Amino acid sequence: MEDIPGYQRRYSVPVRIGHVTVGGDAPVVVQSMTNTDTVDEVRTAIQVADLARAGSELVRITVNSEEAARAVPGIRQRLDDMGVDVPLVGDFHFNGHKLLRAVPACGEALGKLRINPGNVGKGSRRDPQFAEVIEIARDLDRPIRIGVNWGSLDQDLLARMMDENARRPEPRSPDAVMRDAVVTSSLDSAERAESLGLPHDRIIISCKMSRVQDLISVYQDLAGRCEYPLHLGLTEAGMGSKGIVSSTAALAVLLQQGIGDTIRISLTPEPGGDRTQEVIVAQEILQSMGLRSFTPMVAACPGCGRTTSTFFQELADEIQTHVRDRMPVWREQYPGVESMTLAVMGCVVNGPGESRQADIGISLPGTGEKPVAPVYEDGEKTVTLKGETIADDFKDIVEAYVARRYGRADPAAGEA
Ligand code: SF4
Repeated sequence: MEDIPGYQRRYSVPVRIGHVTVGGDAPVVVQSMTNTDTVDEVRTAIQVADLARAGSELVRITVNSEEAARAVPGIRQRLDDMGVDVPLVGDFHFNGHKLLRAVPACGEALGKLRINPGNVGKGSRRDPQFAEVIEIARDLDRPIRIGVNWGSLDQDLLARMMDENARRPEPRSPDAVMRDAVVTSSLDSAERAESLGLPHDRIIISCKMSRVQDLISVYQDLAGRCEYPLHLGLTEAGMGSKGIVSSTAALAVLLQQGIGDTIRISLTPEPGGDRTQEVIVAQEILQSMGLRSFTPMVAACPGCGRTTSTFFQELADEIQTHVRDRMPVWREQYPGVESMTLAVMGCVVNGPGESRQADIGISLPGTGEKPVAPVYEDGEKTVTLKGETIADDFKDIVEAYVARRYGRADPAAGEA
């Protein structure tokens, strides 16, 4: 992790989920959720594998019916057969207690269970159903995420807190009471889970809100009131740039304050869009803040009137794609490559300066400039490219740079 001025991570109890640790000293974990029908074992296993290969370290699947519960062990088996060891998180609402009892192999195939205290059951059924899920998790030694979602907040609790507030000499605003109710619901549920025998280090909390300022306020409150690891995410973030911007705005504030042990970006994919986008956005938030490194960062200037051709945009895009495509191989062969920085700049104004700052950079010719592109490696100009093959030549130079700088010493080298 980079040296981040003033950054201090909030203390949280580490929670193990299979081979992944959330909280404690562990890096902030990226997670995601499928949108396939869990009953469809093949499609779900393929999407989980796609998400895991994109970098999701935990993947949540919905378990909403007995058929879905019965599919879970098969999904786990298919993933194991594909060599994908990502822990699965089961998302349960309303009938989780029944499903976990009816299909014991479902709980065994899951690394973690997620329940929403507002959705475990109504009235007198709520407490025994909550207890049943907790006891199953305890007996299976699985952690639980107590995931309060403001859209499904426990209405009995909210009504009680609103009544109490109305009796205060100076009542707080309904929004403030609602935020307090979200936090109270999660912490009361965690306390109850512990009283039922779930160990302290088997609980993760989330309180997802759909408005940025509500999310920040709720997590700041939560962070000061418990030591459980916190799962961050803006719920119903939305589509496209709106979802990305609001999630980033909320999470960046909290992460900068050291709050958050695992994140999920709840993007609504475009029709036919790629589900892995939520993983990439989560990684980019963490990497751009200097909290983790996943993929070499390509810095590109925004372009301006000095870049009137599309060549500059095309090259920046091509290099970014090339880096992402090569990462599965690079990650294996070249440890540390994820922290490499690249620059693709549009003209001589900032091009040479930015390219020198990056590990490897190229400064393309702007409009009216001599059609040559100097390349800089470790701050030094090493070659000047020109002609039709600049893009391919630069990719070759990047490959050679990666091999030279991050290649492991060949253990056989020097042997007779
Ligand atoms: S580096 Fe050149 S092309 Fe890029 S934004 Fe700056 S002036 Fe424009």
